[in-house]
Amino acid sequence: MRTELLYLEDSYIKEFNATVLEVKDNGVILDRTAFYIGGGGQPYDSGSLFFGGKECKVVGMRREDALHIIEGPLPSPGEKVHGIIDWDRRYKIMRTHTSVHVISGVAYKDFGVIITGNQLYEGRARIDLSFENMSKDLALQIIEESNKVIEKGLEVRWYYITKEEFERRPELKRVNPRLYEKYERIRVVEIVNFDLQADGGTHVRNIKEIGKIKLDKYESKGRKNKRIYISLIP
Ligand SMILES: [Zn+2]
Repeated sequence: MRTELLYLEDSYIKEFNATVLEVKDNGVILDRTAFYIGGGGQPYDSGSLFFGGKECKVVGMRREDALHIIEGPLPSPGEKVHGIIDWDRRYKIMRTHTSVHVISGVAYKDFGVIITGNQLYEGRARIDLSFENMSKDLALQIIEESNKVIEKGLEVRWYYITKEEFERRPELKRVNPRLYEKYERIRVVEIVNFDLQADGGTHVRNIKEIGKIKLDKYESKGRKNKRIYISLIP
């Protein structure tokens, strides 16, 4: 990938300047971007690019090459653009993403429940869990306990560790380690003194920014596979 992904370092960047490297497939590739490219259950960002008195909308992102899919006028290769991401939407997704990590930590540490997948939306999420004796009551307990953890206001940090370090941390292996094993350096997101996960997404700096969460729905998808829907209480 030729594009520097600014959000990996700082998830609070809302605007940025960049240069167009390439224009193709109704989109542009930039030398740097704050738009999340999608993946890991977190949706790509939307927003606008401004250039030469014009504006185009970013309506999609292609993950493989960080192509910003554009609606409206296209800038030219070499042109300078100013990008603004739809921050209200992104911030809700960030709060939701970090809340799923809190839930995952509580589920794993307190109840031995493994989260096998999740899909984030603006202010809500679908979470798949693997646990034989899962019930709606247990799901409610996990959410209640998660809200208690959120109230502690723990700091969130993201950084890189080596593959060797990854191998030494068993808690990192609960979410599909095959996705990460091919990398020499692995980005992890830590809720300090509480949870550590390999992750390429964007998070809030302190879990108190999440606010409060609630369980919206509980579904059984089979003997071991259960699904819950949660949302932020606005
Ligand atoms: Zn995550």
